[in-house]
Amino acid sequence: MLKINFQVNEEYLARRMISTNNMPTDFANYLWDKYRDSYQTLQKNVASNNIDMNIIKELQKQDFFIQALKSANDNCTRIKNNWDKNQEQIVNFLKRILKIDLNLEVTGFIFPPNFNTGVNIGNNCFVWGHMQGTKDENYDLVYLVHEALHSYFEKDNMSHAIIENISDVELARFLNGTIKHYPYHSFTQEEHIKIYPYWNLYLNKTKEEILKDQEYTKIMYDIDKYEIERDFVSKLDINQLIDFLKEKIKSIEFETSYEIL
Ligand SMILES: [Zn+2]
Repeated sequence: MLKINFQVNEEYLARRMISTNNMPTDFANYLWDKYRDSYQTLQKNVASNNIDMNIIKELQKQDFFIQALKSANDNCTRIKNNWDKNQEQIVNFLKRILKIDLNLEVTGFIFPPNFNTGVNIGNNCFVWGHMQGTKDENYDLVYLVHEALHSYFEKDNMSHAIIENISDVELARFLNGTIKHYPYHSFTQEEHIKIYPYWNLYLNKTKEEILKDQEYTKIMYDIDKYEIERDFVSKLDINQLIDFLKEKIKSIEFETSYEIL
């Protein structure tokens, strides 16, 4: 079961605005002049307690902050409604694809859409708010799951590529009913190419399905060469798959190639 508690955290919103310089320049300059140490501290560590809290309080009194807070609250209501409508089918999807009973409860701090941000901040918490989600509600759903899964998996690129395969690729396809999926990070590209033959076996895709998928992904390999591992790989659960892939990547030369679109 994946449970997401949605909330708007007024203090965290203010901290984040300072740490990312996401505010009108005049006011940013004013805060910089008056609270330089605290400003610099927050830029290095958004959660630091070693600051003058007046920097937060002054920011929170500004009209643009009050507007952003309202926008965050509206976004939170919209996203929560959308999640509640879709949670059951997403939980069932995750059960099928992970092949384990996920037991994860996380908190999503929702930001205004124009923050265009999504990041897991540790302690089973993530932040999310993206303009794309106001145009495509499945985009929100996919990245809520993506950020939540960072609280379950490890932090290496292989695990990140697996998270992307689960959410950005397969969940996006499931929700949108298309083969097209959302783009993943460029820094996981190499892992995607390496794990692709095994990911297809893990999902027990038929040869025809893999060929169709390759027309879209453009990641080419000799499907027949991997068939011998189908029986074993298709029976793994997600944790076993990751352990298996970490070993594989160390020990063999991969024969996949990638055609740039
Ligand atoms: Zn990620």
